[in-house]
Amino acid sequence: MTNEVVFVNLREAMFRRLDRAVDIVTRGHQRDAIAFARRELPRLVAGLRALMVLHAPDAEGYCRECRRGRWWRRQHSPCLALLAYHIAVKEFDDQPPVEPAKHRAPDQADA
Ligand SMILES: [Zn+2]
Repeated sequence: MTNEVVFVNLREAMFRRLDRAVDIVTRGHQRDAIAFARRELPRLVAGLRALMVLHAPDAEGYCRECRRGRWWRRQHSPCLALLAYHIAVKEFDDQPPVEPAKHRAPDQADA
């Protein structure tokens, strides 16, 4: 299997997983959405964090991944991945925030 095929398969698997997550949480039964979110949301956040670790700034404030090309052409600019993230989540800003309940569900109560 070539690198291109592996890359395409991994990329498609990631998008299928994300699409499934959105579908279950937005259109699924509330019980399934809650169970799925509790199980999958930490996994998705871990994946996003792992991606963003690659986009950490260096000592000069350049993103290590987005800083490519000849040194004399490099300009200070936002990390493209971080910028894409903020643009993508911005469209959801008009949704009401979800506040944590003041009480815990019985299965979440401290023992
Ligand atoms: Zn970056």
